[in-house]
Amino acid sequence: MGPPTTEYPSPKVLARPEHQLSRGSLSAEALKVLYRLHRSGYAAYLVGGSVRDLLLGNRPKDFDVATNARPQEIRRLFRNSRVIGRRFRLVHVFFRAGIIEVATFRASPEPPESPNDWEEAAAEEAEESTTTDRPQPATEDVVFGTPAEDARRRDFTVNALFYNIADFSIIDHVGGIEDLERGLIRTIGDPDQRFIEDPVRMMRALEYSVRLGFDIDARTSDAITAQRDLIAEASAPRLTYELLESLRSGHAAGIHEAWRRSGVFTRAFPDLPIDTDESMRVLEMVDREINSNRELSDPSLIGSYFLGRFLAIAEEETSDTGRVDNPQVLGRLRESLEPASTSMHLSNQTLHLLHQGLFALTKMRRPPDRGRQVLKLVRQEYFKVAWELYGFAVALGYISPEAHQGWKRALRKVGTKDRSDAPLKSATERPRPRRRPRRRR
Ligand code: ATP
Ligand code: MG
Repeated sequence: MGPPTTEYPSPKVLARPEHQLSRGSLSAEALKVLYRLHRSGYAAYLVGGSVRDLLLGNRPKDFDVATNARPQEIRRLFRNSRVIGRRFRLVHVFFRAGIIEVATFRASPEPPESPNDWEEAAAEEAEESTTTDRPQPATEDVVFGTPAEDARRRDFTVNALFYNIADFSIIDHVGGIEDLERGLIRTIGDPDQRFIEDPVRMMRALEYSVRLGFDIDARTSDAITAQRDLIAEASAPRLTYELLESLRSGHAAGIHEAWRRSGVFTRAFPDLPIDTDESMRVLEMVDREINSNRELSDPSLIGSYFLGRFLAIAEEETSDTGRVDNPQVLGRLRESLEPASTSMHLSNQTLHLLHQGLFALTKMRRPPDRGRQVLKLVRQEYFKVAWELYGFAVALGYISPEAHQGWKRALRKVGTKDRSDAPLKSATERPRPRRRPRRRR
């Protein structure tokens, strides 16, 4: 059961005229789900990051809904839906424009996605199993809870606000409205306990503070310092997930700087190099790409950590006459990639793409002299990684602007056969858990 309700005063409710969140800023799909639940007699709230972002005037990444309807009841209301997760079951409602995640109010004070749940959810998605007919677990009544309990099991006060579709009010059980106004990231409840419960929350606190431009409450910040060693015990898939989320956020440089300064980064990713000016420059370039609405594949995002190190190796293994010792470069590159690949649970395929994609840059230092050379290279799957990182290597001075122009011209000539447009699979062993097609910010 959740913490005792008596610890908390009754919720603060902002009626419709007292806040800035307008229905018009919700997606049509989110509204449809909220209204159908409401008309069927259930409580239906918009929850989580979407309420926070809308109140701040930002565009949410996705819309999550919470309700007192049970998963099977939600399933019955939406034909195009699927129950996922074994312990904490959620319903995904599918629309052409994306997925709306609908969760039944939960009481659990535990992390909502403990490593096991994540892996379970991921495994299920990998199996493509439909879980709609699975019997309800005996523990259901323990797992599900009241709206107040559902608010309190969340991580930070600003992430626990509810938008009630019944009367368009904002419901705040945890002081989130005040923290939103003051620009504060604060854990719900005792920060040490919440970080012990789920160490990944430390990375999330720092990430939100950068993304939203918020301060971290002093007690929360002290708890990060006190508990940061625990991050080393968090599961690799969840850490890798947070890493990729930050790389895709458009604030990667700032987030990594905050992670580095707080000491969580080296504890979470001891094998990832970000301690040089060069690696920070690459992260800034990643941000520029993302903020210009250009996609980078997961292997390229991870490859950006290794670009500086790779360029140093390539430089060292190039003779004065410009000859590159290929086996030496390949060997040393592999040595630098392997430990991170193992600790982050990257798939062999991702390791291969990183290895070959980075190495391909050595062959692209000069403009191509034969069309065949271009064709041969662009047909390789790893070419996408090479090409996505190529511009960064130009900016770092490894590749001349003339070579860049030459390759761009050559790629235009080979046109659609360009592998750089082909999609690459996600970076981790299993499909990314609980993920859904994201709307761009
Ligand atoms: P984003 O804009 O990155 O999607 P978000 O706040 O929506 O931010 P999600 O990771 O999508 O974050 O999670 C949705 C909500 O689930 C959060 O707002 C929070 O209320 C809750 N949540 C997510 N992760 C945790 C966690 N580790 N512990 C407690 N609550 C969590
Ligand atoms: Mg979200």
